[in-house]
Amino acid sequence: MSTRWFRAETPECALWHLAQGATAVAGGTALLSAAFSPTIGSRAVALAWPDDPATIGEVTARRTLAALADDPGAPAALSIAAQSAGNPATRRRATLGGWIALRAYATDVVAPLLALRANVELITGAGRHTMAYDTYLRDSPSTVHLVAGVTFPERPLWSQYSRHALRATPGPLGVGVAAATFADATEIAVSGVGIPAVQLRFPRDLTLGEARDALRSRLSPDDHRAASRQLERIFREL
Ligand SMILES: Cc1cc2nc3c(=O)[nH]c(=O)nc-3n(C[C@H](O)[C@H](O)[C@H](O)COP(=O)(O)OP(=O)(O)OC[C@H]3O[C@@H](n4cnc5c(N)ncnc54)[C@H](O)[C@@H]3O)c2cc1C
Repeated sequence: MSTRWFRAETPECALWHLAQGATAVAGGTALLSAAFSPTIGSRAVALAWPDDPATIGEVTARRTLAALADDPGAPAALSIAAQSAGNPATRRRATLGGWIALRAYATDVVAPLLALRANVELITGAGRHTMAYDTYLRDSPSTVHLVAGVTFPERPLWSQYSRHALRATPGPLGVGVAAATFADATEIAVSGVGIPAVQLRFPRDLTLGEARDALRSRLSPDDHRAASRQLERIFREL
């Protein structure tokens, strides 16, 4: 089967192609990896509009992981995750929108966005919508949509991310742990291969032992060992 390619220079044009059954291709890096590859089908639409300048509390979808890694306005846990994913060539092409839209638990974006209480900005035929990232991850909308970016309703006082990779690179994440402290609580999230994302909320003055104990019943012994090592790193930064 051959694929016909189209170029969308606006989100509206991309949505039209998606409604005709096209697959969206942003950086296109998921197509390069057996672990992440979507089925592209007979019609593909390249998302080619320029990235909007990001404002505080918002990161736009066309931003590459390399740009996100260097963005002082992005929450630390997300920038560190962007810096940790893949290799330099992948990070220069892969976009935040594609990273989110893959909805793969074995990617580095999951734990930080859960811990940061992120919302996803979606564009559908009916306009723009905001959805909790948690809901998007577990129950993606059935309507044709584009991921336009993420917003953070509340800035964390502090956030961190640490990952354990099964292999160096290329390869999916083993276990990734993110933590974010807000005025009312500390959020910890864990994701990785075979882990359908664990999300826990603690009082602000959480200790390493309490975090480790709470995760014990939620993870396999191997994953718990790997997550505990990442928690130790995170707590060293506190
Ligand atoms: C060698 C290699 C190593 C990797 N290592 C890691 C790693 O260590 N950690 C990690 O987290 N990831 C890793 N990845 C995966 C990588 O992060 C994803 O491939 C990438 O983030 C996807 O972004 P993209 O812009 O290239 O999306 P694409 O590949 O273009 O698209 C991915 C999916 O999202 C859809 N899509 C794209 N943009 C949008 C949008 N704006 N709205 C709606 N749908 C959209 C596409 O239709 C497709 O289904 C690796 C990939 C490779 C090739």
